Amino acid sequence: MLALDSLPLFRDLRPEERAAVRAVARERQFEAGQDIFREGDPGDGVYIVQAGQVEISGQLAPGQRRVFSRLGPGEIFGEMAILEHRPRSATATALVATTTWYLPRGELLTLVERSPGLALSLLQEMSRRLRDFNRQYLKEVLQAERLAVVGRFARSIVHDLKNPLNVIGLTADLAGMPDAPPALRSQARERIRKQVERITEMLNEILEFTQGPEVGMNLETRDYAAYLRALLEELRPELELKSVRLELASEPPAVAVRVDPRRLRRVFANLLHNAADAMPEGGRVTFRFRRQSGQVVTELEDTGPGVAPEIAERLFEPFATHGKAHGTGLGLSICRKIIEDHGGRIWLRQSPGRGAAFIFTLPEAPPASG
Ligand code: ADP
Repeated sequence: MLALDSLPLFRDLRPEERAAVRAVARERQFEAGQDIFREGDPGDGVYIVQAGQVEISGQLAPGQRRVFSRLGPGEIFGEMAILEHRPRSATATALVATTTWYLPRGELLTLVERSPGLALSLLQEMSRRLRDFNRQYLKEVLQAERLAVVGRFARSIVHDLKNPLNVIGLTADLAGMPDAPPALRSQARERIRKQVERITEMLNEILEFTQGPEVGMNLETRDYAAYLRALLEELRPELELKSVRLELASEPPAVAVRVDPRRLRRVFANLLHNAADAMPEGGRVTFRFRRQSGQVVTELEDTGPGVAPEIAERLFEPFATHGKAHGTGLGLSICRKIIEDHGGRIWLRQSPGRGAAFIFTLPEAPPASG
């Protein structure tokens, strides 16, 4: 059987102080399921579990009760009553048949006044409690945040995959009909191929987003001018279909850069797709380049309406999307990740009456030695 003065709380007290605690402690018994005190009851004293188990819970919202902790022998509860004479902020319930010591507030305060050792022990106990509570709280907040991100992620992926899958399903049904003419079949094949490409692109985007830093960096030394010209020729036809023209306002500098060509291509593709989305009636994207303190600076300015103020602050954060029916909000966060993995920076320049201008830097490669 647990003895009151063997508890850490009282162990360091002088014998006469321990005797005084014993003298004020009263034993109280509770049946399984019985409330020891409820939220709103007067905070009239402190309890210590002698045997059994006690659950501390609180009402977060009407009909929503939350268990804060479960306490066993030797643990103290209702201790806030020592500090402040206010109603209980939680409910304590005996989970099994439970015996407690009860120290009434008034007597305990008299003891605390006489015994600095007891005051210190009680403070230490409360500080330990607060720290445990903080730790638990932080863990729960982090977990909830993680789950919320996973949930949002899953929702946006499911949503975005549904469309192309529907198209593939319907097209396959049509093309598979016994009397489908060859022209319809080849049209269907083309349509399905496009949708598969879209899904692949989306999956690549997700992989890119979930990859850890530095994973998959395949650095090669490239001449930036040559790399860029080839890339623009590759991306141009698709943009022209959307009536978006690409223009070079300055020559791309012929300097060596260390890049992962495939990942850097994604930055251009994402920025250009965004520009095309912002200009549904078509428009222009102007490229400008300069060299500055060992960096190549690349700028893409479009002739759209510019970035909406509602999103400007969160622009590069994952899931930040605005004004698009099927935006995942991943595009720019991926651009930032790729540029930062290359040792560069990316930002937005907004000027009144002009479109959005995205600017990023890439470090120039150090000259080859020898
Ligand atoms: P998504 O395109 O999936 O929404 P992004 O991270 O690529 O995600 O872009 C976030 C948001 O930034 C877009 O939803 C859009 O509101 C805004 N945005 C991005 N690029 C432009 C642009 N060139 N012009 C105007 N708004 C833009």
